[in-house]
Amino acid sequence: MAELERRQDRFPVPSAFDYAPAPESRDIVTLEEQYGLFIGGEWVEPRSSEFEATVSPATEEELARVAFAGEEDVALAVDAAREAFDDGWSSIAPSERAKYLFRIARILQERSREFAVLESLDGGKPIRESRDVDLPLAAAHFFYYAGWADKLEYAFPNRRPRPVGVAGQIIPWNFPLLMLAWKIAPALAAGNTVVLKPAESTPLTALLFCDVVRQAELPPGVVNIVTGDGRAGAALVQHPGVDKVAFTGSTEVGKEIQRSVAGTGKKLTLELGGKAANIIFDDAPLDQAVEGIINGIYFNQGHVCCAGSRLLVQESIYEQVIAKLKRRMGTLRVGDPLDKNTDVGAINSKQQLEKIRELVAAGEEEGAEIFQPACRLPEKGWWFPPTVFTNVAQSYRIAQEEIFGPVLSVLTFRTPDEAVEKANNTPYGLSAGVWTEKGSRILSMAQRLRAGVIWANTYNRFDPASPFGGYKESGFGREGGRHGLEPYLRFE
Ligand code: NDP
Repeated sequence: MAELERRQDRFPVPSAFDYAPAPESRDIVTLEEQYGLFIGGEWVEPRSSEFEATVSPATEEELARVAFAGEEDVALAVDAAREAFDDGWSSIAPSERAKYLFRIARILQERSREFAVLESLDGGKPIRESRDVDLPLAAAHFFYYAGWADKLEYAFPNRRPRPVGVAGQIIPWNFPLLMLAWKIAPALAAGNTVVLKPAESTPLTALLFCDVVRQAELPPGVVNIVTGDGRAGAALVQHPGVDKVAFTGSTEVGKEIQRSVAGTGKKLTLELGGKAANIIFDDAPLDQAVEGIINGIYFNQGHVCCAGSRLLVQESIYEQVIAKLKRRMGTLRVGDPLDKNTDVGAINSKQQLEKIRELVAAGEEEGAEIFQPACRLPEKGWWFPPTVFTNVAQSYRIAQEEIFGPVLSVLTFRTPDEAVEKANNTPYGLSAGVWTEKGSRILSMAQRLRAGVIWANTYNRFDPASPFGGYKESGFGREGGRHGLEPYLRFE
């Protein structure tokens, strides 16, 4: 380990407690050397004959080689999904569909440690998060939608809900298994079959999920997983046999997808980027708010579309909040994702690290003041220390663009009106946080903020029953809750 120290003399921070390493054993995970595609309930070799390595971002170790699907492979997967749809999945008793979903939820719970270790290995997120957040939420999603499968007539009374057909689903690398659950659970509950493409850098939990699909004895072809890069994603979006496209990822690719499905009649939901404001009023419980700020931006290394990446602090408490925040940042432990004491893990990929570095350099050049607590970063792998920028103007790139890393930009405000104006001054509209002890202020802020999700006196809290989605360039359509079923249904 090389010591990388960046200290800010004006704000001495306490050093983190020394903890003995507490690594989670990786023995529970059995990796194949090479993975094919999961089509029609079988592992098949890709017609493309292409394979690429997936690596651990914490060590750069090659974990496995994974198939890269071509157009022909994607077409086979769509055909398998269509066949499964026509041959029974769309017409079996909804209570039977529910049983499969319950089964999947229970298997995910039973195998949660295996999935959590694999998620942290492949994606770099701390095991504490994959174990305590990703896995319980993924299982909860299947439980939740299992409950809706035989109640669709009650969920949408007098509208005769029917499945759409084959869903083409494309997910990103920040919450690989959880995004898979967000996509697959409502689609199956509504009676659709799916072809899902995981992100290139984090395919392994989706591939392990194929084993769960088999264990649950889901009929072949109901769930198909095609690994690959953006070309496979584009082929899936463009395939005429796909009836509904669901995408989570960058705004740029989202726009491309919207253009490509325009006029085809395919249903579309897009869950894209964000640049959320986390707003702290002077009557907020400050210690709790500081925890909320930390959780809002450093959870999952800031690779979170709804991350509270713009902190808006009321001017009268600015000095106090910043001092507390810097002190708390000094106690964050950055390092081995498999260590149970780790708070901030590895950056998901080299490309993402480069993007973060570029935007941080832009912030420094534009005149913002940077603070990073003293911390040791491992020599191998991709890492970035928790970072906060003060003296940020609204026009700076770090206040406008999604950094998708552990980097916070701080702005100030004097009045609620100014807070609303600054919070809404973004092309995005996915989420926001409000910290105040006044309930009436929470309600009035929630009405005026243009964001799909608004947390009050908490941040980054998720529940399968609660719809999630954005406004403006953050996309459209909702995932989660009863609303999350609607994109997977047509009404007669
Ligand atoms: P992308 O939007 O490129 O990736 C998301 C998914 O879409 C991946 O599975 C990707 O495959 C696939 N994909 C890529 N190109 C296409 C295409 N033309 N048609 C269909 N599917 C496609 O995100 P990146 O991984 O490149 O990340 C870039 C930036 O996007 C991040 O820095 C961050 O700002 C933002 N982002 C936002 C996310 C969110 O949750 N809102 C999630 C991830 C990223 P492949 O992995 O092979 O490229």
